[in-house]
Amino acid sequence: MIQNLQSIKKKEKIDLKSSFSALKSIPRFFKEIWNINKKMFFFNALFRLINAFSPVVILWVGKIIIDEIILQTRIADKDFTTLWKFVLIEFIIVIIADIIDRMITLTDSLMGDLYSNNSSIRIINKTKELSIAQLEDPEFYDKLERARTQTASRVNLMSNSLSQVQSVISIASLIVGLIYFEPYLIILLILSIIPSFFNEIKFSNQRYSLARSWTSERRELDYLRYIGANANTAKEIKLFGLTAFVADRFRNLSDDYYNLNKKLIIKSSAYGTIFNILGVLSYYGAYVLIIFRVLSGIISIGELTFLSGSFNRLRNSLQGFFSRFSRITESALYLKDYFDFIDLTIPETNDVQVPLPTEIKEGFEIRNLHFHYAGSNEAVLKGVNFKIKAGEKMAFVGQNGAGKTTLIKLILRFYEPTEGEILLDGINIKDFNIIEYQAMFGVIFQDFFKYEFTIKENIAIGNIDELANLERIKKAAELSLASEVVSEMPNGYEQQLGRRFVKGQELSGGQWQKVALARAYMKDANVLILDEPTSALDAKAEFEVFERFINLTKGKTSIIISHRFSTVRMADRIIVLEHGRIGEQGTHEELMAKPKLYKELFELQAAGYL
Ligand code: ADP
Repeated sequence: MIQNLQSIKKKEKIDLKSSFSALKSIPRFFKEIWNINKKMFFFNALFRLINAFSPVVILWVGKIIIDEIILQTRIADKDFTTLWKFVLIEFIIVIIADIIDRMITLTDSLMGDLYSNNSSIRIINKTKELSIAQLEDPEFYDKLERARTQTASRVNLMSNSLSQVQSVISIASLIVGLIYFEPYLIILLILSIIPSFFNEIKFSNQRYSLARSWTSERRELDYLRYIGANANTAKEIKLFGLTAFVADRFRNLSDDYYNLNKKLIIKSSAYGTIFNILGVLSYYGAYVLIIFRVLSGIISIGELTFLSGSFNRLRNSLQGFFSRFSRITESALYLKDYFDFIDLTIPETNDVQVPLPTEIKEGFEIRNLHFHYAGSNEAVLKGVNFKIKAGEKMAFVGQNGAGKTTLIKLILRFYEPTEGEILLDGINIKDFNIIEYQAMFGVIFQDFFKYEFTIKENIAIGNIDELANLERIKKAAELSLASEVVSEMPNGYEQQLGRRFVKGQELSGGQWQKVALARAYMKDANVLILDEPTSALDAKAEFEVFERFINLTKGKTSIIISHRFSTVRMADRIIVLEHGRIGEQGTHEELMAKPKLYKELFELQAAGYL
């Protein structure tokens, strides 16, 4: 299994070049951080600049102190003023450096939080712009997932990159000191560090490509974790005894990932150890050299401590520099995923921006409409032709999978037709601005979303600008019968719904539908569409809901989908869809006069009621 997976993953391998090119997104990253809070960014950079010099200064003061001690032990006429002065100076520098360090950590974490909040909001906003077709594409969904889940890595990237700049300045200052006394030590230093550098880069790429190639599996793991442990699925999980099934599936998948990852970690730490030994060897080589120089009287003991201290510090700083570098390239790859997502282009909508009619005069015309979903060859609509006159109440009926919802999604421009066109007052709907066009509809789908917000918010969702308008919300609730639900809630309109949050109240399917239906009444939509949002209501309640709907929306164009013929017969005209084609259409009476599907289904249902 693992072998097999590895071969699949191979093609996704990220090479060194792409990891360096990911670094290109870093300037943009910093520009964004700078824009989020300029003052904080400025102080952070200033603090880092100051502290970059602290190591070399502290080592230098240490050298002066030691030389002074040695001097004082040798001379008869002792004077400790200089000695104590430098001890005090070192003490003050250490204290200040520590305070500045804390300020750096503080501003790092605050800026990181701001950036991560900001990017979450941008992801939400971007998602709104994308088409439903894009969101349903699994490859695309993975991109979204990578952009969404890697927030922590963006926070680390910021502090790592800033530390990197600080460390470069520190390193440069230490190197200057080293060159001043013993330039050849630099060569030793470089020799010891290069292998670990390449090692770091190599493994960081491999870590990223592994994580990346596992995006969809990780998504599955998240999903399994979700269904295995949450209140919504608990009933079925218990009743069908699914725990072991879900746990095994999770275990199999996570074990595969664990094993691949384990191999990688072991390999990288084995290499890391070897290269580190090389580094230690070079340090002791340098140390021995410096000792020889002291013994032959070329440099002082103070200089010995300064040089060995500098060398050690440099080695650690350089190692830190390189490992940080590999962490930066790794996070930069994730950053690139985020920018790729934010920069995604919206599919061509051919918006010629013909102004939308304020009032529908003629209505819709659906001409030779064909459609199949991306990734499927099965045509869902196969040449559909009909008209919806302005102010007409249409009903679509047909068996499951006949294409009713798809037809509505095309009218709403969630997808582009594969062939054919939809006209509104004679103009192809592609020519309107999509946002304005979609705002014209009040739609409630069968799978409407149950937001775990308050009942008031759940209704206002139909027109969120009116959230503060309680009168309007109450009116909508009365029209959809949601007011009955509200009256049963301890907190009325402020009642929190769902079980996720404290004091949340779960509703029955029918109650939820009444709440969702109220959304349709929240705005003065030109066209109302109800796609089976009443299936969980009892027959009497559904009849009542639709009777109100028909009376209240007089003169408004509307489409309803329902499986209840008592509702459907109220429509002005009924379209019967059969396998993506129109089987028949007409009023209830006209359709009942023909011995076809409508009559057959109607009689079947009526017999059930009898
Ligand atoms: P109805 O509303 O009449 O029950 P739908 O329009 O929902 O039918 O579905 C028609 C067909 O399209 C079904 O075969 C369904 O599997 C398929 N389908 C629906 N939505 C999608 C989608 N997002 N991607 C691919 N196929 C889909």
